[in-house]
Amino acid sequence: MKIGVPKEIKNHEYRVGMTPAAVHELCNHEHRVYVETNAGAAIGFTDEDYRQAGARILDTAQEVFDAAELIVKVKEPQAAERAMLRPDHTLFTYLHLAPDQAQTDDLVKSGATCIAYETVTDRTGRLPLLAPMSEVAGRMSIQAGAHCLEKAMGGRGVLLGGVPGVSPAKVAIIGGGVVGQNALAMAVGMGAQVTVLDRNMDVLRMLDNLYGNRISTLFSTAQTLDQAVTESDLVIGGVLIPGASAPKLVTRDMIKRMPEGSVIVDVAIDQGGCTETSKATTHDDPTYVVDGVVHYCVANMPGAVARTSTLALNNVTLPFVAALANKGPVQAMKDDPHLLAGLNVSGGKVTYREVAEATGHSY
Ligand code: NAD
Repeated sequence: MKIGVPKEIKNHEYRVGMTPAAVHELCNHEHRVYVETNAGAAIGFTDEDYRQAGARILDTAQEVFDAAELIVKVKEPQAAERAMLRPDHTLFTYLHLAPDQAQTDDLVKSGATCIAYETVTDRTGRLPLLAPMSEVAGRMSIQAGAHCLEKAMGGRGVLLGGVPGVSPAKVAIIGGGVVGQNALAMAVGMGAQVTVLDRNMDVLRMLDNLYGNRISTLFSTAQTLDQAVTESDLVIGGVLIPGASAPKLVTRDMIKRMPEGSVIVDVAIDQGGCTETSKATTHDDPTYVVDGVVHYCVANMPGAVARTSTLALNNVTLPFVAALANKGPVQAMKDDPHLLAGLNVSGGKVTYREVAEATGHSY
């Protein structure tokens, strides 16, 4: 199979679809990989690294699209990339089509086979190609929150772990899923006093078993949330209701009663955010202040640690890329219903119900 890896062209996107290590694996299986020049340069993967791994470096995206049958990317194809897609292409990347009419229309028109990372499933019904980005964002949330608590950032001037003779900061983590568990590991590691709130008792039991009396767990209700949020130096928003906007669990009134200079990192901002005062920000200008509370609401947190995110993403995408390359897309999806669940557009039709419903295409 001929596999193409173009350089990402979305603003501030430094990740790359395949690492040199992933390219090496595929070349070992007699596949040919075409990488656009400088595709990984921003995160330390040079053209020479790719050449050593067996790739051929091409000067332009057009050459990559012309040469390849399978295109592996990170972000949804931009208009210029969509114009290069052909019916015999298979595209494997994040697509997020439901809110994106123009992209859906173009992919349908292209006739290409388009498999979205975000709808590939696993045996437990979860989304394995989204999980590494939640791991990254969860871990980063504590790093970002600790930084925002510094005076220069408008924070309270509080050190998460305290020091001998001074109490540690209080951290409330709303949602004990992938984001919450990764935030928890970091916060505990830094010595903070942590409370996790969730509505799933299995999650709370599991965390209690893991951490014992080093953390507190609370069943999430309006009352427990009010108590935990208004007492905390740092609140992490990591809730998710699959397929729905994030619930506004933290009210403006709670925020008014938080200590001056406390911090909210609303990781759930990509689903609208879980506080009444959240609005999406960017890495260029990540924070703003409401009622004395610093808000960090960056919608694509993993982009800031693009090298780690690329490596984490490749760990989970590589087996699927290998299957697509080894068997061809049709047989690979026939053999694996979880990969088939990723199919969003094929042969000029939308093949994913929610995308069809949202964009008015037939299904
Ligand atoms: P997840 O499904 O693993 O976990 C969500 C948790 O929220 C679940 O345990 C669920 O029981 C809990 N929950 C639901 N309703 C609740 C309530 N009322 N109170 C308390 N807990 C509640 O999801 P995840 O992978 O951890 O993702 C969490 C959010 O982070 C999602 O919105 C996701 O899109 C977002 N995210 C954002 C970024 C970013 O860059 N900003 C990156 C990755 C993920």
